[in-house]
Amino acid sequence: MENGIPVALTRCSSYSEEEIRRCLVKMFADLALSGELFAGKRICLKPNLVMAKKPELGATTHPTVLAALAKLLLKQGAKEILIADSPGGPYAAANLEIVYRTCGLTALESIPGVRLNSDFGFRTVTLETGRTLKNCSFLNAVLDCDMLINVCKLKTHGLTGLSCAVKNLFGVVPGVEKFAMHATYPKIEEFSDMLVDITEYIRGKMPYLAVCDGIVGMEGNGPTHGTPVESGVLLASRSPYALDIAAEHIIGCTVPVVHLDKAAERGLTESRDWQQVKLLSDTELPGYHFTPPEASAGRFLKNLSGIMGGRLAEAFAARPKIDNKICVGCGVCERSCPAHAITIENTGAGRRAVIAYKGCIRCYCCQELCPHGAVRMGKNVLIRWIH
Ligand code: SF4
Ligand code: SF4
Repeated sequence: MENGIPVALTRCSSYSEEEIRRCLVKMFADLALSGELFAGKRICLKPNLVMAKKPELGATTHPTVLAALAKLLLKQGAKEILIADSPGGPYAAANLEIVYRTCGLTALESIPGVRLNSDFGFRTVTLETGRTLKNCSFLNAVLDCDMLINVCKLKTHGLTGLSCAVKNLFGVVPGVEKFAMHATYPKIEEFSDMLVDITEYIRGKMPYLAVCDGIVGMEGNGPTHGTPVESGVLLASRSPYALDIAAEHIIGCTVPVVHLDKAAERGLTESRDWQQVKLLSDTELPGYHFTPPEASAGRFLKNLSGIMGGRLAEAFAARPKIDNKICVGCGVCERSCPAHAITIENTGAGRRAVIAYKGCIRCYCCQELCPHGAVRMGKNVLIRWIH
Protein backbone atom coordinates (compact mmCIF):
# COMPACT_ATOMS: atom_id res chain seq x y z
CA MET A 1 0.00 0.00 0.00
CA GLU A 2 1.30 3.45 -0.90
CA ASN A 3 -0.07 6.20 1.36
CA GLY A 4 -0.42 9.82 0.26
CA ILE A 5 1.31 8.98 -3.01
CA PRO A 6 3.32 11.97 -4.32
CA VAL A 7 2.52 13.48 -7.71
CA ALA A 8 4.52 16.52 -8.85
CA LEU A 9 2.75 19.09 -11.01
CA THR A 10 4.03 22.21 -12.79
CA ARG A 11 2.32 24.68 -15.08
CA CYS A 12 4.08 24.72 -18.45
CA SER A 13 2.64 27.08 -21.02
CA SER A 14 4.51 26.08 -24.18
CA TYR A 15 6.73 23.54 -25.88
CA SER A 16 9.78 25.71 -25.28
CA GLU A 17 12.59 23.27 -24.43
CA GLU A 18 14.00 25.63 -21.81
CA GLU A 19 10.64 26.00 -20.03
CA ILE A 20 10.10 22.23 -20.07
CA ARG A 21 13.62 21.64 -18.71
CA ARG A 22 12.96 24.02 -15.80
CA CYS A 23 9.66 22.26 -15.04
CA LEU A 24 11.29 18.82 -15.12
CA VAL A 25 14.10 19.96 -12.81
CA LYS A 26 11.52 21.28 -10.35
CA MET A 27 9.41 18.13 -10.46
CA PHE A 28 12.48 15.89 -9.99
CA ALA A 29 13.45 17.99 -6.96
CA ASP A 30 9.90 17.86 -5.54
CA LEU A 31 9.90 14.06 -5.91
CA ALA A 32 13.41 13.87 -4.39
CA LEU A 33 14.72 12.02 -7.47
CA SER A 34 18.48 12.19 -7.19
CA GLY A 35 21.00 11.55 -9.94
CA GLU A 36 21.75 8.17 -8.31
CA LEU A 37 18.46 6.84 -9.66
CA PHE A 38 19.60 7.46 -13.25
CA ALA A 39 23.41 7.20 -13.11
CA GLY A 40 24.94 4.52 -15.34
CA LYS A 41 21.55 3.28 -16.50
CA ARG A 42 20.26 2.49 -19.94
CA ILE A 43 16.90 4.23 -19.73
CA CYS A 44 13.96 3.49 -21.99
CA LEU A 45 11.60 6.42 -22.61
CA LYS A 46 8.22 5.00 -23.57
CA PRO A 47 6.25 7.80 -25.28
CA ASN A 48 2.69 7.61 -26.54
CA LEU A 49 3.10 7.12 -30.31
CA VAL A 50 -0.34 5.65 -30.86
CA MET A 51 -0.26 6.42 -34.59
CA ALA A 52 1.47 8.66 -37.12
CA LYS A 53 0.12 12.07 -36.07
CA LYS A 54 1.77 15.49 -36.04
CA PRO A 55 2.78 16.60 -32.53
CA GLU A 56 0.52 19.67 -32.50
CA LEU A 57 -2.58 17.42 -32.71
CA GLY A 58 -2.12 16.36 -29.09
CA ALA A 59 -2.36 12.61 -29.70
CA THR A 60 1.33 11.77 -29.25
CA THR A 61 4.04 12.73 -26.78
CA HIS A 62 5.65 15.95 -27.99
CA PRO A 63 9.27 15.49 -29.19
CA THR A 64 10.43 18.54 -27.22
CA VAL A 65 9.33 16.91 -23.95
CA LEU A 66 11.35 13.82 -24.91
CA ALA A 67 14.36 15.96 -25.90
CA ALA A 68 14.34 17.96 -22.66
CA LEU A 69 13.89 14.83 -20.54
CA ALA A 70 16.59 12.87 -22.38
CA LYS A 71 19.14 15.70 -22.00
CA LEU A 72 18.34 16.06 -18.30
CA LEU A 73 18.78 12.31 -17.69
CA LEU A 74 22.08 12.25 -19.60
CA LYS A 75 23.28 15.22 -17.56
CA GLN A 76 22.39 13.29 -14.41
CA GLY A 77 24.60 10.40 -15.53
CA ALA A 78 22.32 8.10 -17.57
CA LYS A 79 24.40 5.86 -19.85
CA GLU A 80 22.02 5.81 -22.80
CA ILE A 81 18.48 6.87 -23.69
CA LEU A 82 16.43 4.58 -25.89
CA ILE A 83 13.04 5.80 -27.14
CA ALA A 84 10.73 2.84 -27.79
CA ASP A 85 7.04 2.22 -28.35
CA SER A 86 4.83 -0.13 -30.30
CA PRO A 87 2.06 1.90 -31.97
CA GLY A 88 -1.11 0.43 -33.48
CA GLY A 89 -0.32 -1.73 -36.53
CA PRO A 90 2.69 -3.95 -37.23
CA TYR A 91 5.74 -3.65 -34.97
CA ALA A 92 8.14 -3.33 -37.90
CA ALA A 93 10.66 -0.87 -39.32
CA ALA A 94 8.42 0.37 -42.15
CA ASN A 95 5.59 1.36 -39.77
CA LEU A 96 7.87 2.82 -37.10
CA GLU A 97 9.82 4.93 -39.61
CA ILE A 98 6.60 6.67 -40.66
CA VAL A 99 5.54 7.12 -37.03
CA TYR A 100 8.95 8.53 -35.94
CA ARG A 101 8.99 10.94 -38.88
CA THR A 102 5.38 12.14 -38.61
CA CYS A 103 5.51 12.46 -34.82
CA GLY A 104 8.62 14.64 -35.15
CA LEU A 105 11.03 12.25 -33.39
CA THR A 106 13.66 11.73 -36.08
CA ALA A 107 15.70 14.79 -35.02
CA LEU A 108 16.10 13.37 -31.50
CA GLU A 109 18.81 11.01 -32.80
CA SER A 110 21.08 14.02 -33.27
CA ILE A 111 21.35 14.28 -29.46
CA PRO A 112 24.48 12.31 -28.42
CA GLY A 113 23.44 9.32 -26.29
CA VAL A 114 19.86 9.16 -27.63
CA ARG A 115 18.55 6.43 -29.96
CA LEU A 116 15.20 5.61 -31.50
CA ASN A 117 14.50 1.92 -31.10
CA SER A 118 15.20 -0.17 -34.20
CA ASP A 119 15.16 -3.66 -32.62
CA PHE A 120 11.70 -5.01 -33.38
CA GLY A 121 12.18 -8.20 -31.42
CA PHE A 122 10.08 -9.25 -28.46
CA ARG A 123 9.84 -12.19 -26.08
CA THR A 124 7.20 -13.87 -23.97
CA VAL A 125 7.50 -13.81 -20.20
CA THR A 126 5.52 -15.28 -17.32
CA LEU A 127 3.74 -12.84 -15.04
CA GLU A 128 4.03 -14.50 -11.63
CA THR A 129 1.79 -11.91 -9.98
CA GLY A 130 -0.66 -11.51 -12.89
CA ARG A 131 -4.30 -11.87 -11.90
CA THR A 132 -5.74 -11.96 -15.40
CA LEU A 133 -2.63 -12.14 -17.53
CA LYS A 134 -0.28 -15.08 -16.96
CA ASN A 135 1.96 -14.83 -20.04
CA CYS A 136 2.63 -11.85 -22.25
CA SER A 137 5.02 -10.70 -24.97
CA PHE A 138 6.98 -7.52 -24.31
CA LEU A 139 9.35 -5.49 -26.49
CA ASN A 140 13.00 -6.49 -26.10
CA ALA A 141 13.74 -2.75 -25.94
CA VAL A 142 11.79 -2.56 -22.69
CA LEU A 143 12.81 -5.89 -21.16
CA ASP A 144 16.50 -5.16 -21.71
CA CYS A 145 16.63 -1.65 -20.23
CA ASP A 146 17.61 -0.73 -16.65
CA MET A 147 14.80 1.75 -16.06
CA LEU A 148 11.55 2.71 -17.75
CA ILE A 149 10.14 6.23 -17.93
CA ASN A 150 6.56 6.25 -19.19
CA VAL A 151 6.17 9.58 -21.01
CA CYS A 152 2.42 9.62 -21.52
CA LYS A 153 -0.20 12.15 -22.72
CA LEU A 154 -3.17 13.75 -20.98
CA LYS A 155 -6.00 12.44 -23.14
CA THR A 156 -9.46 10.96 -23.16
CA HIS A 157 -9.87 7.39 -24.43
CA GLY A 158 -12.94 5.79 -26.04
CA LEU A 159 -12.55 2.45 -24.26
CA THR A 160 -10.83 3.22 -20.96
CA GLY A 161 -12.05 6.80 -20.42
CA LEU A 162 -8.54 8.08 -19.75
CA SER A 163 -5.34 7.52 -21.68
CA CYS A 164 -2.55 8.53 -19.40
CA ALA A 165 0.11 6.48 -17.57
CA VAL A 166 -1.53 3.06 -17.13
CA LYS A 167 -3.07 2.81 -20.61
CA ASN A 168 0.16 4.03 -22.24
CA LEU A 169 1.99 0.97 -20.91
CA PHE A 170 -0.14 -1.24 -23.18
CA GLY A 171 2.31 -0.09 -25.87
CA VAL A 172 5.06 -2.30 -24.42
CA VAL A 173 3.17 -5.21 -25.99
CA PRO A 174 4.22 -5.69 -29.63
CA GLY A 175 2.01 -4.56 -32.54
CA VAL A 176 -0.86 -6.77 -33.49
CA GLU A 177 -0.60 -8.87 -30.30
CA LYS A 178 -2.48 -5.99 -28.71
CA PHE A 179 -5.45 -6.69 -30.99
CA ALA A 180 -5.44 -10.33 -29.87
CA MET A 181 -5.53 -9.18 -26.26
CA HIS A 182 -8.63 -7.10 -26.94
CA ALA A 183 -10.27 -10.26 -28.27
CA THR A 184 -9.12 -12.34 -25.27
CA TYR A 185 -10.36 -9.73 -22.77
CA PRO A 186 -13.39 -8.18 -24.47
CA LYS A 187 -15.01 -6.92 -21.27
CA ILE A 188 -13.77 -3.68 -19.77
CA GLU A 189 -13.37 -5.29 -16.32
CA GLU A 190 -10.97 -7.99 -17.57
CA PHE A 191 -9.22 -5.64 -19.98
CA SER A 192 -8.58 -3.15 -17.15
CA ASP A 193 -7.30 -5.90 -14.84
CA MET A 194 -4.95 -6.94 -17.64
CA LEU A 195 -3.63 -3.35 -17.90
CA VAL A 196 -2.86 -3.40 -14.17
CA ASP A 197 -1.07 -6.77 -14.59
CA ILE A 198 1.17 -5.27 -17.29
CA THR A 199 1.86 -2.19 -15.20
CA GLU A 200 2.74 -4.23 -12.12
CA TYR A 201 5.04 -6.52 -14.10
CA ILE A 202 7.02 -3.56 -15.40
CA ARG A 203 7.11 -1.85 -12.00
CA GLY A 204 8.27 -5.07 -10.36
CA LYS A 205 11.06 -5.56 -12.89
CA MET A 206 12.80 -2.18 -12.96
CA PRO A 207 12.80 1.34 -11.52
CA TYR A 208 9.84 3.20 -12.91
CA LEU A 209 8.76 6.80 -13.34
CA ALA A 210 5.79 8.37 -15.15
CA VAL A 211 5.96 11.82 -16.76
CA CYS A 212 2.80 13.19 -18.36
CA ASP A 213 2.84 15.67 -21.24
CA GLY A 214 -0.31 17.69 -20.61
CA ILE A 215 0.98 20.91 -22.18
CA VAL A 216 -1.45 20.19 -25.02
CA GLY A 217 -3.90 17.45 -24.09
CA MET A 218 -6.80 15.94 -26.01
CA GLU A 219 -10.54 15.96 -25.32
CA GLY A 220 -13.44 14.33 -27.13
CA ASN A 221 -12.69 11.32 -29.31
CA GLY A 222 -9.32 10.41 -27.88
CA PRO A 223 -6.91 8.78 -28.06
CA THR A 224 -6.45 9.78 -31.73
CA HIS A 225 -9.39 11.73 -33.14
CA GLY A 226 -10.16 14.19 -30.36
CA THR A 227 -9.58 17.93 -30.14
CA PRO A 228 -6.31 19.39 -28.81
CA VAL A 229 -6.66 21.39 -25.57
CA GLU A 230 -4.01 23.81 -24.27
CA SER A 231 -4.05 22.39 -20.75
CA GLY A 232 -0.58 23.69 -19.81
CA VAL A 233 0.59 21.08 -17.29
CA LEU A 234 3.37 18.57 -16.75
CA LEU A 235 2.99 15.84 -14.13
CA ALA A 236 5.38 13.23 -12.73
CA SER A 237 5.09 10.40 -10.23
CA ARG A 238 6.68 7.07 -9.30
CA SER A 239 3.08 5.73 -9.21
CA PRO A 240 1.17 5.48 -12.50
CA TYR A 241 -2.07 5.10 -10.54
CA ALA A 242 -1.63 8.27 -8.48
CA LEU A 243 -0.66 10.18 -11.62
CA ASP A 244 -3.79 8.90 -13.41
CA ILE A 245 -6.01 9.80 -10.45
CA ALA A 246 -4.63 13.36 -10.53
CA ALA A 247 -5.07 13.46 -14.34
CA GLU A 248 -8.64 12.16 -14.02
CA HIS A 249 -9.38 15.02 -11.64
CA ILE A 250 -7.63 17.65 -13.78
CA ILE A 251 -9.66 16.81 -16.90
CA GLY A 252 -12.93 16.53 -14.95
CA CYS A 253 -13.35 12.97 -16.19
CA THR A 254 -16.99 11.81 -15.93
CA VAL A 255 -16.39 8.37 -17.44
CA PRO A 256 -15.58 5.46 -15.07
CA VAL A 257 -11.86 4.65 -15.33
CA VAL A 258 -12.03 0.98 -14.44
CA HIS A 259 -8.27 0.29 -14.32
CA LEU A 260 -8.01 2.75 -11.43
CA ASP A 261 -10.82 0.92 -9.59
CA LYS A 262 -8.91 -2.32 -10.16
CA ALA A 263 -5.67 -0.81 -8.84
CA ALA A 264 -7.51 0.44 -5.74
CA GLU A 265 -9.10 -3.00 -5.19
CA ARG A 266 -5.60 -4.50 -5.18
CA GLY A 267 -4.40 -1.95 -2.61
CA LEU A 268 -2.07 -0.27 -5.11
CA THR A 269 -3.54 3.13 -4.25
CA GLU A 270 -4.92 4.21 -0.91
CA SER A 271 -8.29 5.03 -2.44
CA ARG A 272 -9.90 6.39 -5.59
CA ASP A 273 -10.25 9.85 -4.08
CA TRP A 274 -7.86 12.31 -5.71
CA GLN A 275 -7.44 14.07 -2.37
CA GLN A 276 -5.43 11.04 -1.26
CA VAL A 277 -2.84 12.07 -3.82
CA LYS A 278 -0.02 14.04 -2.23
CA LEU A 279 0.23 16.91 -4.68
CA LEU A 280 3.69 18.48 -4.89
CA SER A 281 3.13 21.82 -6.53
CA ASP A 282 3.20 25.52 -5.88
CA THR A 283 0.13 25.94 -8.04
CA GLU A 284 -3.52 24.95 -7.61
CA LEU A 285 -4.57 21.73 -9.32
CA PRO A 286 -6.17 23.03 -12.53
CA GLY A 287 -9.76 21.99 -13.19
CA TYR A 288 -10.84 21.39 -16.78
CA HIS A 289 -13.99 19.85 -18.24
CA PHE A 290 -12.67 17.77 -21.12
CA THR A 291 -15.47 16.63 -23.42
CA PRO A 292 -15.80 12.85 -22.99
CA PRO A 293 -15.37 10.52 -26.00
CA GLU A 294 -18.53 9.65 -27.97
CA ALA A 295 -17.73 5.97 -27.35
CA SER A 296 -18.16 6.43 -23.61
CA ALA A 297 -21.77 7.68 -23.86
CA GLY A 298 -23.43 4.74 -22.06
CA ARG A 299 -20.54 4.08 -19.66
CA PHE A 300 -22.03 6.22 -16.86
CA LEU A 301 -24.57 3.40 -16.35
CA LYS A 302 -21.76 1.41 -14.78
CA ASN A 303 -22.03 3.68 -11.74
CA LEU A 304 -25.67 2.76 -11.16
CA SER A 305 -25.65 -0.42 -9.11
CA GLY A 306 -22.89 -3.02 -9.03
CA ILE A 307 -23.21 -5.88 -11.51
CA MET A 308 -26.49 -4.55 -12.91
CA GLY A 309 -24.83 -1.22 -13.71
CA GLY A 310 -21.99 -3.06 -15.49
CA ARG A 311 -24.48 -5.07 -17.58
CA LEU A 312 -26.48 -2.00 -18.49
CA ALA A 313 -23.29 -0.19 -19.51
CA GLU A 314 -22.40 -3.14 -21.79
CA ALA A 315 -25.89 -3.38 -23.22
CA PHE A 316 -26.00 0.33 -24.02
CA ALA A 317 -22.38 0.68 -25.18
CA ALA A 318 -22.01 2.97 -28.18
CA ARG A 319 -21.48 1.11 -31.44
CA PRO A 320 -19.08 2.14 -34.19
CA LYS A 321 -20.57 3.44 -37.44
CA ILE A 322 -18.75 3.95 -40.73
CA ASP A 323 -19.22 7.32 -42.39
CA ASN A 324 -19.38 6.26 -46.03
CA LYS A 325 -18.68 9.80 -47.21
CA ILE A 326 -15.25 9.73 -45.50
CA CYS A 327 -14.27 6.04 -45.68
CA VAL A 328 -11.87 5.27 -48.54
CA GLY A 329 -11.89 1.49 -48.10
CA CYS A 330 -8.20 1.40 -47.11
CA GLY A 331 -8.69 -1.70 -44.91
CA VAL A 332 -6.76 -0.50 -41.84
CA CYS A 333 -9.82 -1.12 -39.65
CA GLU A 334 -10.36 -4.59 -41.19
CA ARG A 335 -6.77 -5.54 -40.30
CA SER A 336 -7.07 -4.02 -36.81
CA CYS A 337 -10.42 -5.43 -35.72
CA PRO A 338 -9.72 -8.00 -32.97
CA ALA A 339 -13.11 -9.66 -33.52
CA HIS A 340 -12.78 -9.84 -37.34
CA ALA A 341 -16.11 -8.03 -37.51
CA ILE A 342 -15.13 -5.68 -40.36
CA THR A 343 -14.92 -6.43 -44.07
CA ILE A 344 -14.26 -4.16 -47.02
CA GLU A 345 -17.10 -4.53 -49.48
CA ASN A 346 -18.44 -3.03 -52.68
CA THR A 347 -21.28 -0.74 -51.65
CA GLY A 348 -23.34 1.82 -53.56
CA ALA A 349 -20.75 4.38 -52.44
CA GLY A 350 -17.76 2.28 -53.64
CA ARG A 351 -15.36 0.06 -51.60
CA ARG A 352 -16.22 0.75 -47.96
CA ALA A 353 -15.82 -0.84 -44.51
CA VAL A 354 -18.85 -2.79 -43.32
CA ILE A 355 -19.27 -3.84 -39.66
CA ALA A 356 -21.01 -7.08 -38.63
CA TYR A 357 -22.39 -5.92 -35.28
CA LYS A 358 -23.07 -9.44 -34.05
CA GLY A 359 -19.34 -10.02 -33.65
CA CYS A 360 -18.35 -6.50 -32.52
CA ILE A 361 -16.90 -6.39 -28.99
CA ARG A 362 -17.01 -2.55 -28.76
CA CYS A 363 -13.24 -2.18 -28.34
CA TYR A 364 -13.17 0.91 -30.61
CA CYS A 365 -9.81 -0.03 -32.17
CA CYS A 366 -11.40 0.79 -35.55
CA GLN A 367 -12.13 4.35 -34.47
CA GLU A 368 -8.71 4.72 -32.87
CA LEU A 369 -6.75 3.56 -35.90
CA CYS A 370 -8.78 4.77 -38.90
CA PRO A 371 -6.37 7.21 -40.57
CA HIS A 372 -9.27 9.19 -42.06
CA GLY A 373 -11.52 9.63 -39.03
CA ALA A 374 -14.33 7.75 -40.79
CA VAL A 375 -15.53 5.80 -37.74
CA ARG A 376 -18.11 7.60 -35.63
CA MET A 377 -20.21 6.38 -32.73
CA GLY A 378 -23.89 5.54 -32.92
CA LYS A 379 -25.67 6.13 -29.61
CA ASN A 380 -28.59 4.07 -28.41
CA VAL A 381 -31.90 6.02 -28.50
CA LEU A 382 -32.24 5.86 -24.69
CA ILE A 383 -28.70 7.18 -24.15
CA ARG A 384 -29.30 9.94 -26.72
CA TRP A 385 -32.43 10.89 -24.85
CA ILE A 386 -30.67 10.95 -21.44
CA HIS A 387 -27.83 13.05 -22.84
S1 SF4 B 1 -13.22 3.09 -41.94
FE1 SF4 B 1 -11.25 4.10 -42.01
S2 SF4 B 1 -9.76 2.47 -41.75
FE2 SF4 B 1 -11.70 1.50 -42.29
S3 SF4 B 1 -11.57 1.26 -44.50
FE3 SF4 B 1 -12.65 3.18 -44.08
S4 SF4 B 1 -11.06 4.74 -44.15
FE4 SF4 B 1 -10.00 2.78 -43.95
S1 SF4 C 1 -15.84 -3.28 -35.29
FE1 SF4 C 1 -14.53 -1.81 -34.23
S2 SF4 C 1 -15.34 -1.75 -32.16
FE2 SF4 C 1 -16.17 -3.59 -33.12
S3 SF4 C 1 -14.74 -5.22 -32.55
FE3 SF4 C 1 -14.08 -4.42 -34.54
S4 SF4 C 1 -12.54 -2.85 -34.04
FE4 SF4 C 1 -13.69 -3.28 -32.16
